[in-house]
Amino acid sequence: MHSSIEIKYNTKIVGVVGHPIKHSLSPMMHNYAFNKGGLDFVYLPFDIASTNLKDALKGMVALGIAGFNVTIPHKERIVEYLDELSDSAKIVNAVNTVVNENGKLHGYNTDVNGILKTLEDYKDDIAGKTVSVLGAGGAARAVIYTLINNFNVKKINIINRTGEKAESLKDYFSSKMLFEKIKAYELVPPDVTEILSKSKLIINASAIGMSPEEDDSPTTIPKSFNNKQIVFDLVYNPRKTKFLSIAESQGATILNGLKMFIEQGAKAFELWTNEKMEIEKITEILNKEAEL
Ligand code: NAP
Repeated sequence: MHSSIEIKYNTKIVGVVGHPIKHSLSPMMHNYAFNKGGLDFVYLPFDIASTNLKDALKGMVALGIAGFNVTIPHKERIVEYLDELSDSAKIVNAVNTVVNENGKLHGYNTDVNGILKTLEDYKDDIAGKTVSVLGAGGAARAVIYTLINNFNVKKINIINRTGEKAESLKDYFSSKMLFEKIKAYELVPPDVTEILSKSKLIINASAIGMSPEEDDSPTTIPKSFNNKQIVFDLVYNPRKTKFLSIAESQGATILNGLKMFIEQGAKAFELWTNEKMEIEKITEILNKEAEL
């Protein structure tokens, strides 16, 4: 995805703050979109260790950086350093996009938009049904927030390696969003087979199966899946995880995390530029990039 960017004295700078940052696809995606849209912006990767986060944010303001994405491991810790938070960022308690508005840093959670866009075509299928969410980190919180806020689901199961984290998420959402129909489980693959098999939608919001651990899967038990289910894996590297392959072999409809990634980026792009990102071409390029 080659792009030639002419940097001028007033070119707007945005970027991504994370650690490590070398695998991020965001610089490629946004610089392509800026270039294609004729926007005078440039997107840079900022590899910032946790100990430097607070100072780095002061530096961002001092340098007049227009905004930035936030990725692992800063999405949660950054919340305390921001001036304003959107409603979703407040409840999810994680920020992946910041806009510098006249020196004040405003935090948003556009992962929520990515999840919403990925699942919106299945809204009628999911309504009134049981959903199982694997994982209890920041991504799982964004998923659970979106399910409660936008999809009329009957029940949510949270399944996580560390059972106590699933429990505390359950307590958090039932008190914060007054959604009582949540259950928490420890991830023990043979034990959760029945829970998964009875779910209309299964979402992997854990890091299991992400490159380089491509042989891992939250479950390898085919009976967990069936041909009436929708199975969404937030992981997009690889594009088809082992989890999705097993679900597909049982006839489930599978969705990977690429659309979510592009849509969270598109919302951030819009917050910074007030313009729409060209999603179709970017999807094509990122799918091709995966085959290289
Ligand atoms: P996080 O806060 O670090 O949470 C990681 C979760 O994965 C925790 O629930 C953790 O369980 C679980 N986990 C990690 N390694 C595991 C292992 N080996 N076995 C069992 N469980 C394991 O990370 P996050 O920000 O929520 O991200 C989770 C995943 O979502 C990542 O793969 C990330 O790339 C993906 N994601 C995708 C998008 C997108 O745009 N598509 C956006 C955001 C995130 P414990 O609680 O037991 O530690």
